Amino acid sequence: MSLSKESIDEFKVIYKNKFKKELSDAEASEAANNLIGLFKILYDCEVRDLQRKHRLKKEPEGFRLDGEYTCSICHRQVAKSESWYDKWGIKCPLCQKAVKEGSVPPFICKDRNSWYAMWELDKKFKIKHPTARKLVRQGKLRLICF
Ligand SMILES: [Zn+2]
Repeated sequence: MSLSKESIDEFKVIYKNKFKKELSDAEASEAANNLIGLFKILYDCEVRDLQRKHRLKKEPEGFRLDGEYTCSICHRQVAKSESWYDKWGIKCPLCQKAVKEGSVPPFICKDRNSWYAMWELDKKFKIKHPTARKLVRQGKLRLICF
C-alpha cells in the first residue's frame, strides 16, 4: 500500500510542526509509509486478538490455533496446530496440561515477572540448584514442576 501525494504532504506538515524539520518528498514518503506499516501490523494483531476473544465466548475452554506460536510460559516454539489458546493466552500442550491440572497457577501465563526459572535463580540471585532445592524443602520457595 502506498500513500497518496496528499497524505505525504499532510505528513510533512505535521512532521515539520512537531519536529521543526522539513523533510524531502522521499524522506516523508518513507517515514509516512513506515508509520502506516507499523500501524497496520498493530491493527492486524488487535483484530486477530479480538477474533480469538470472540471465539472464546463460544468455546470458553479454549481452542487450538493454526500456525506456529511461542508458549507464554516455557517460551518453546510450538509446532503447527499444537498451540492452545484460552483466556490465559497461548500455551504449548505441556503447559496447557499443567495449567488445566492446577500444577501451574494460570496467572504466570500473563505475568512473566511473577516467577523465576531455575537458571534465573542462579543468574539473578546466585542461588545454585541445590540451595534452591533446600529452600523449596524449607517452604521458602515454591517449586513448580511439569
Ligand atoms: Zn510451554
